[in-house]
Amino acid sequence: MKHAKRSARLPVLTADCRKILPVPDRRRVYTYAGPDGYRAFIGQTLACLGYSRAADAEAADVCVRINADGPALMCRFMRDDGAERSFGPERFAHKGRLKELLLVMYGKAFNSVPSQWGVLTGVRPTKLVHRLWDNGLRPEATPGYLHDRYGVAEDLANLLADVAARQRPYVIGQGRDAALYVGIPYCASHCLYCSFPSRLIGNEGKGNLQDFVRAVVADARDAYVLCRDMGLRITSVYVGGGTPTALPAALLARIIDAVRPFAAGGAEWTVEAGRPDTATAEKLTLLRQAGVTRVSINPQTMQRHILEKLSRRHGVKDIYAMFDTCRALDYDVINMDFIAGLPGQTEADMAENMDVVCQLRPENVTIHTLALKKGAPLFRHSLRDEIPAAHLVEAMLNEVRRRLAEKEYVPYYLYRQTYMAASFANIGYALPGEICAYNIEMMEERQTVLGIGPGSATKFIVAGREMKKLYMPKDIGQYVAALPERLVRRRSLCASIYEGVDE
Ligand code: SF4
Repeated sequence: MKHAKRSARLPVLTADCRKILPVPDRRRVYTYAGPDGYRAFIGQTLACLGYSRAADAEAADVCVRINADGPALMCRFMRDDGAERSFGPERFAHKGRLKELLLVMYGKAFNSVPSQWGVLTGVRPTKLVHRLWDNGLRPEATPGYLHDRYGVAEDLANLLADVAARQRPYVIGQGRDAALYVGIPYCASHCLYCSFPSRLIGNEGKGNLQDFVRAVVADARDAYVLCRDMGLRITSVYVGGGTPTALPAALLARIIDAVRPFAAGGAEWTVEAGRPDTATAEKLTLLRQAGVTRVSINPQTMQRHILEKLSRRHGVKDIYAMFDTCRALDYDVINMDFIAGLPGQTEADMAENMDVVCQLRPENVTIHTLALKKGAPLFRHSLRDEIPAAHLVEAMLNEVRRRLAEKEYVPYYLYRQTYMAASFANIGYALPGEICAYNIEMMEERQTVLGIGPGSATKFIVAGREMKKLYMPKDIGQYVAALPERLVRRRSLCASIYEGVDE
């Protein structure tokens, strides 16, 4: 097997370490000292071990130091029983080895694998399952293999195999199939937990908005010609953000008009209408009339007092009203997003959210776990202290899974996020036959995704594997200015991949 050699080098998977460290009843934090170039990588790896970054005054549960000279890693772990374990300095030659060293030190400090994920630290764990299957592993042998080689807990290993089996028809034999993503980075207000660098629509000058829309329309038209010239077939379209419906109706209509030809061949077409305070009946009607098939309503939670704390600026009644409007407009699929672990949220609150799901029966439900990111206002806000402990979030997620299974929802994609409490996963559920193709195509990275708009990523995939990427600038002004040059690069990258032309 392709992965056997690599996994055999991970000593945390000895029999002693097969035990999973229980989810702590409090958030564990780390500090890091060393070159900036390793900071994000260390944060990402430690997040997978259940640690988030310490606010300045907090006592850390693990202190990580990297000496640039070497470079070499040193770690000091403080265990809940008061014992302290120090390791290093250990030299490393590349980031892969650095990650292994961290895992080894963790395993030695606690005599355990860090979580139900064993030593898997990637954000897309089902990609590994698809690779194993490409290399000949039998589906029925997969849960056992994930448990034995990677230390993944049995329940989770079954879930990963189950999700991958559901995805399999979407990840093989794509040829020149591609998905299209359109990013609209405007929002009505900044939600407390969100680190997305969106601009507030109310603060934007009319001229800037016009420039933005003109650029996105030009971007979309160029991508459409590119698809035609290169013979790319668009299988799914996703207009996300930000909140696309934060745009005034007339401007939203211009972008939607430019995107419409991509979906003319019957591609699934999603628009995130996340915030009910932005999605008026007029906008929802224009989207549906343009051919949008899937709309995403994102209540996050159904308790007014929590929505207020989050600066969501809409009430519970607005969510019901928006849902009714979408049903009346006959969208094929309605998705609803919820977050587990919001400040002040209880298990009863999450149970109430699931009552609403059972009552409304949206075709898709996506359950996120709160990820405490440095760029989010919540990171330094006093409400941070009201974030429920990881074991409570775990109880919420278990209950969600049980309730949704009871109502025939099946998990069809999942991903892990950095800075997520205790290393849980975000999971998308669907009623039978209602899977969102875009979510799988984007997450599993087996087919080309064309990105339009500020901050979007274009990823060209060759033979299901090789990737060439092109990013649009996140800043709207820089995006507008750089667009002509990026369009030239996108075309030459695309030609190099599909026509064998030199870049
Ligand atoms: S959560 Fe969504 S609506 Fe809220 S600020 Fe972030 S992108 Fe905007």
